[in-house]
Amino acid sequence: MGCRERAPVTDLLRVVHRSGTLVPDPRRRLPGRGASVHPTPECLHAAERRRAFSRALRLPRGAAVEAGPLRTHVLGASAPGDPGPGRATADERQTALPTDGPATGRSARREQDVVG
Ligand SMILES: [Zn+2]
Repeated sequence: MGCRERAPVTDLLRVVHRSGTLVPDPRRRLPGRGASVHPTPECLHAAERRRAFSRALRLPRGAAVEAGPLRTHVLGASAPGDPGPGRATADERQTALPTDGPATGRSARREQDVVG
């Protein structure tokens, strides 16, 4: 999705949008529309530059998109200029996230995902 290279979905990091924040979903278990990117700084930066997340996740124009937890997950806590929490903390926060409504089936969820 960021660099437009095709890859097996298992090589990609699923990303969902929660309360204005892009949240990494490495276990691919969170409900809702997801986008998948290579878990690399290059692909993440490309996706951010092209606003690919807003498009892939069908966010309203001008919607707030906070990529902090996602950046931390991909770049790691030691990335320069990113004082965010470490990877473990991001994972803990992810598991504590509320789900919105009943979870959809796995196959239906996958059909919604934008991959690339
Ligand atoms: Zn990519």
